[in-house]
Amino acid sequence: MNEHDMAKVDRLLMSSGFEPAREIAEASVVLVNTCCVREKAEQKFYSLMGRLRRAKKKRGFILGVTGCVAQAEKEGLLERLPFIDFSLGPSAIHRVTEAVLAALDKRVFLDFSDNGCHSSLYVRPGASGGKVRTFVTVMKGCNNFCSYCIVPYVRGREVSRSSGDIRQEVEELAASGVREVILLGQNVNSYNKGADDLSFPGLLKSLNDIEGVERIRFVTSHPRDLSGELIDCFGALSKVCEQIHLPFQSGSDRILGLMNRGYTKDEYLKKVEALKRRCPDIALTTDCIVGFPGERDEDFRDTMDLVERVAFDGVFSFCYSARKYTRASTLPDRVARETARARLLELQAAQKATTLRTFRGMEGSHAEVLVEGASKNSSEDLTGRTRTNRIVNFKGTPDMIGKLVEVEIVKGYANSLRGSIEKE
Ligand code: SAH
Ligand code: SF4
Repeated sequence: MNEHDMAKVDRLLMSSGFEPAREIAEASVVLVNTCCVREKAEQKFYSLMGRLRRAKKKRGFILGVTGCVAQAEKEGLLERLPFIDFSLGPSAIHRVTEAVLAALDKRVFLDFSDNGCHSSLYVRPGASGGKVRTFVTVMKGCNNFCSYCIVPYVRGREVSRSSGDIRQEVEELAASGVREVILLGQNVNSYNKGADDLSFPGLLKSLNDIEGVERIRFVTSHPRDLSGELIDCFGALSKVCEQIHLPFQSGSDRILGLMNRGYTKDEYLKKVEALKRRCPDIALTTDCIVGFPGERDEDFRDTMDLVERVAFDGVFSFCYSARKYTRASTLPDRVARETARARLLELQAAQKATTLRTFRGMEGSHAEVLVEGASKNSSEDLTGRTRTNRIVNFKGTPDMIGKLVEVEIVKGYANSLRGSIEKE
């Protein structure tokens, strides 16, 4: 989501005549986008700001902050970081050019409004295009109030974009060469809930027939709201890829209750079963929190059991951190940092073995890969993804970028696959 916000900011500034600097030492405007979902990211932000304060003192540049720390702290951020020139909440990033111009005029620019408008959701694709895959925001905000989560407080309530607007954006992206779109929302299952417009499965159907788009993915699905109708889209809509990110957060019913997630471990596993029945090759990824207040060893064993039973492709796992405004931050029975850390390492080690097993099991099979570009690790390799969202590196030629190619999987590693181009 933040990466996508920054791409919008890039496009906005470039359309106003700004150019990207190669490094901070050359920049006349430095913009720091922030995330406050977990404590670690927030800590990193403040230490970066310490370094930027010293750099700004030496060599004066415009320094702005965007994103959810800006929203959570509002004017308070200016007290803590008096050297910044502007601060914009996530719903105000479309005003970035205005903010930079105000700073050039020596005015401090602040905007933390959340007026439910859509202006921050869409910025016309510009010259910075050329991408093969891109995110498309379908909704912003969240109404769920999971007890640990700050998102509803800093990103506001759910607002869906109209299906017509989304379709138009995807058509424009397809015309500019994009082949894969990832529909983005905190809980896409409640897209257009109560509105007189398409539901999320309806939106998928509508996007499925856009020429030029080869693949459609979406994040994030809330397990409680994952409907049979959405499950049925897998396999039925040719462009909807066999992959889903379905965060479970904890395998313990007691902890899930305290988290206010609205499902049990069993209900989660039943949804996974339904997905696998509908689409046997579907790849699942998930998010999980360890060390939530009150989590005992037996709760963590339930989490490990769930992870092993589902055999995810990947688990984004985090140690719980208390966040401002949230209900969980007032709960007793905090778990010791070392205990949470040990649980995290155990889970990650088990997951690594599972991913490696799955990826090795693919050796000798064939897969369709959408080629994204040169590999980051080797200038001789191209990189792309399977429909199941697994990364494949292989030797190929630049004319393949943006195309679908058949590869043979020759080796499975812990995070990616090695492929070889099929001989005709
Ligand atoms: N809307 C998505 C996720 C948004 S935040 C969903 O419902 O799953 C991304 C992930 O950060 C969450 O899935 C959760 O695993 C993690 N997270 C959120 N708040 C956290 C906290 N206070 N401590 C640790 N991890 C947290
Ligand atoms: Fe946060 Fe829960 Fe909303 Fe996800 S669904 S953004 S975890 S409150």
